Amino acid sequence: MRLDPSYLEYMTKDEFRVLTAIEIGMRNHELVPMNLIERISHLKRVCASKVVKLLLKNKFIAHENKKFDGYKLTYLGYDYLALQVFMRRGAIKEVLGKIGCGKESDIYKCVNENGDFVILKFTRLGRTSFRTIKKNRDYIQHRTSYSWLYLSRLSAIKEYTFMDLLHKNNFPTPIPIEQNRHGIVMSLINGVPMQNISEIDNPKYVFDQCFDLIKRLAENGLIHSDFNEFNLMVEDNGKVIMIDFPQMVSTKHKNAQFYFDRDVECIHVFFERRFNYQITDTLDFNKIARLNDLDVQVKASGFIKKEIKNIDDFDIDLRGSDDDDDDHQENSDDENEQNDLDRNIGLEDSDDDEIEESKKKIQNLNILNDDDESEE
Ligand code: ADP
Ligand code: MG
Repeated sequence: MRLDPSYLEYMTKDEFRVLTAIEIGMRNHELVPMNLIERISHLKRVCASKVVKLLLKNKFIAHENKKFDGYKLTYLGYDYLALQVFMRRGAIKEVLGKIGCGKESDIYKCVNENGDFVILKFTRLGRTSFRTIKKNRDYIQHRTSYSWLYLSRLSAIKEYTFMDLLHKNNFPTPIPIEQNRHGIVMSLINGVPMQNISEIDNPKYVFDQCFDLIKRLAENGLIHSDFNEFNLMVEDNGKVIMIDFPQMVSTKHKNAQFYFDRDVECIHVFFERRFNYQITDTLDFNKIARLNDLDVQVKASGFIKKEIKNIDDFDIDLRGSDDDDDDHQENSDDENEQNDLDRNIGLEDSDDDEIEESKKKIQNLNILNDDDESEE
């Protein structure tokens, strides 16, 4: 499915209203029933059902009626909610195309309002099996009823927070620009993933940077824990840039040494196999001096302070605070939900003529072409 910001021009306020209502409803419901959509969106049933039908047709939401009858956002719907925010903030003006499709993310090359290239990364947990995710990350533990969208959002928050902190501490990372929902906007790295390099003039220069990065991270209380040729980019001048941070842990994590040794081993094996570079150096986790505590600082960062208590199992704590949120939501009156909705969709800008105009436009426009389906 192509991500095209121009679709946003044709989406009515009512569509955003219903999409956001479903998003809000999903905080406490796996499937959001029609009556709740009406209540949160403050739309009459006839109008709400019409909009729901349109959103279904365009695959922004999905309908289920096996156990319960209700609706949920699809990743596409979630993408457009985030994209709308990025566009309003000027971080994205145009989406040029998808340049990467990982197990758990889609990467798009975009242009911002100043005409600069930027990268948009949408996390899409749930593509790999539940088991793999559970094995790789702690996200799912103790959570029986969970939403992939919510977990993807956590992952994006965590990634952005680490990128921001590392960037501010002079680590070579992309420049973090914006974060919303499951999306991150960052600067484009003009380089290639190390995995794509078959020959290299000076392997020692690149290898030393990798080792130095693992060491510097640990000196600062952090372990990347996915430090490999897929998550390291090399610029033309040979400079190494780290990407992909949602799985970082602190050096106080109970398996810290295991993750550290694995990062070191990955680099060893890659350089030996790919460049036939014989390595004598190694890094000893227990001999690395702790000079700084970025692991503690990330915990205190404004971005996630409210939610994350321990970066190594923040998702569990987050789930705790999510439950609190749910209680709050359960007790909140319609007015609160309405405020939430208005804030989310910027309804204060709403203009009836504009809505009517958009409605007319949308009637004439099949937002997503049928042939886009196959790519979904
Ligand atoms: P995943 O979590 O799916 O592994 P990554 O963050 O590792 O996603 O990104 C996947 C690929 O997208 C990278 O290998 C790289 O080719 C490209 N990519 C990601 N971020 C950038 C960036 N800031 N600049 C240029 N390319 C990027
Ligand atoms: Mg990666």
